[in-house]
Amino acid sequence: EEGGGAGEEYLFKIVVIGDSAVGKSNLLSRFARNEFDANSKATIGVEFQTQLLDIDGKEIKAQIWDTAGQERFRAVTSAYYRGAVGALVVYDITRKTTFDSVTRWLQELSMHCDTTVGKMLVGNKCDLDDIREVSKEEGKRVAEEQGLFFMETSALDSTNVEAAFEVVIREIYNNLR
Ligand code: GDP
Ligand code: MG
Repeated sequence: EEGGGAGEEYLFKIVVIGDSAVGKSNLLSRFARNEFDANSKATIGVEFQTQLLDIDGKEIKAQIWDTAGQERFRAVTSAYYRGAVGALVVYDITRKTTFDSVTRWLQELSMHCDTTVGKMLVGNKCDLDDIREVSKEEGKRVAEEQGLFFMETSALDSTNVEAAFEVVIREIYNNLR
């Protein structure tokens, strides 16, 4: 494709949603800056981070949005979702309640974004396997039922963090063609 696609660039807005304290902000900081914060509070003022990726020789700019704590008030604004072409729906494998909320997050997502949005169900904190409340099989089953990709991740030890974002980004890219 040398020559033909010169200068082509893509900007993908991706939202990260899920209950409070499941690790959304840390997944984002791990992916974008390779950082983890054990005492993270709601990040103030940071709406999104961008990360450049190369897919099939094309430059993709992933603009990944963080709720910055809005989700505590059960009211993530429609501005947050506007224009999103991808979503990571995150739960914490050590807290079943956060897994039960996944359906509600998917409903909210479907109210704001069209059905073609690339979606990944993410079971985070897989480093805490010994206190797990949600099995990998349960996660997989819900993802299959709802037609989502699925991965377990750890923002703490980096397991699958890049992979989770990249699978969504590649899916969005493939859907364009
Ligand atoms: P958010 O509210 O969904 O943005 O969650 P945060 O990213 O602020 O994380 C909430 C808490 O979980 C913080 O104390 C993090 O250090 C911790 N945390 C986030 N990801 C992981 C992980 O993968 N493993 C472990 N063990 N702790 C995590
Ligand atoms: Mg956060």
